[in-house]
Amino acid sequence: MQQSAKIERQPGFLPRSDLQQLLDGIVQSGYQVLGPVVQDGAIQLKAISDATELVKGVSNVQEPGHYRLQQTAGERLFDWNHGPQGLKPLCFAPHEVLWVEQKDPLSFAARLPEVKPTAVLGVRACDLSALAIQDRHFLHAGGADPHYRQRREQLLLIGIDCAHSAASCFCASTGDGPSVNQGYDIGMSELDEGFLVWSGSDKGKAVLERVALTTPQTEQLEQMNSQSEQAAGEQQRKLSKPEELMRLYQRLEHAHWQQVADRCLGCGNCTAVCPTCFCYDTQHEVSLDGQSAQNVRQWDSCFSASHSSMGGFKVRGDILSRYRQWLTHKLAGWQEQQGRIGCTGCGRCITWCPVGIDLTKETDTILWEGSLDE
Ligand code: SF4
Ligand code: SF4
Repeated sequence: MQQSAKIERQPGFLPRSDLQQLLDGIVQSGYQVLGPVVQDGAIQLKAISDATELVKGVSNVQEPGHYRLQQTAGERLFDWNHGPQGLKPLCFAPHEVLWVEQKDPLSFAARLPEVKPTAVLGVRACDLSALAIQDRHFLHAGGADPHYRQRREQLLLIGIDCAHSAASCFCASTGDGPSVNQGYDIGMSELDEGFLVWSGSDKGKAVLERVALTTPQTEQLEQMNSQSEQAAGEQQRKLSKPEELMRLYQRLEHAHWQQVADRCLGCGNCTAVCPTCFCYDTQHEVSLDGQSAQNVRQWDSCFSASHSSMGGFKVRGDILSRYRQWLTHKLAGWQEQQGRIGCTGCGRCITWCPVGIDLTKETDTILWEGSLDE
């Protein structure tokens, strides 16, 4: 599953009161539906069966180290940006058993996950791009990860354009948003009176055959386009161009790394919420009687001390070197390894950093302030 080409839109109109038709069409096609709901003060994806369970009239404020939901007067269901959870945990599980072993007789057996076909409603453009990056990593030719693949193949993705940007968003500068343009099965754009809906794959087309869409009015198509332009125009942050980010390699001794390290807690929140980070650790867990064992994979972070441990020696022994590794790898090294930067501009690492460290601002300071040998 490689990054797909930009999808041409041929939308139909679905009145807000008929959204249940779309949910029913998805369920009748064999999928459970995960949709956005409010839980623990944040937008999260949970199983839903009825459109009335969707979060309504809620938007969000996101800034460095700050996330709050706020009530709006409107009827819109997707007026928020994204919560802490992207698509990552749905394919790359935070914690899972990879295989189990028995001692007598000696045997090894893969433990593949049992996965239900799952539709995800309301996926944002930055997260579709991030999933394409994860696909490239976990499904590369000759080395596909069977656990990831098993989950990924069961997903139906319903993407939606962002009509607004949060203060932490910068997807316009990475070229990943704010409108969905690739990687979805069904695309949507929310208008005041309903939705424009179109298919992005054969799977999506089969679902939409169960839904009565009408021909949209010209004004509705214009509203779809102007909302996207407005969302892009609202973005206050931006990232330098990919070729400029390669200059990070020339800035490894910049004084600002230490200033960031003095604030950074090394907590790893940024890598946990990042939809593209894919580092993990594996543990061999032996049963108490010594007769069996299981190999367990769990998310790891370049901020954990153990992640850079080799033969008992910590290659990156302090927070400065761990933050520098994270930023230079994501913004420069990935270009050499993956053909693009490892950031889709979602801004989660800014919002969910407890001390408000800001990838865009720290990068700008390191790239553009001070001389090269500083
Ligand atoms: S590095 Fe930050 S802004 Fe970029 S994709 Fe990861 S969490 Fe989002
Ligand atoms: S940058 Fe922020 S979120 Fe990331 S490890 Fe440091 S304190 Fe934690």
